[in-house]
Amino acid sequence: MAFRKSRMQQSGDAKTANPKRFMVRRKRFCKFCADKIDYIDYKDQRLLGPFIPERGKILPRRISGVCAVHQRKLSEAIKRARHLALIPFTAD
Ligand SMILES: [Zn+2]
Repeated sequence: MAFRKSRMQQSGDAKTANPKRFMVRRKRFCKFCADKIDYIDYKDQRLLGPFIPERGKILPRRISGVCAVHQRKLSEAIKRARHLALIPFTAD
């Protein structure tokens, strides 16, 4: 309740403050939609590679730009590949 006053004053110029901040953001497009890939092969490490950073975790959608449908298929493929020890579960 005490914050009400200060919030209203600040909201005015917040949008125009720092345009440089958005420069890091890449163009969002789904690689699999672009290539028209319907089935993501879990044996194809070259395909999965870019979505598995060194840490071994699956790259989140908000960073990779993959669409919801393909992210689901991708995670399924990665989990299969992990099970077959093609990809590590975690980095040491
Ligand atoms: Zn897609």
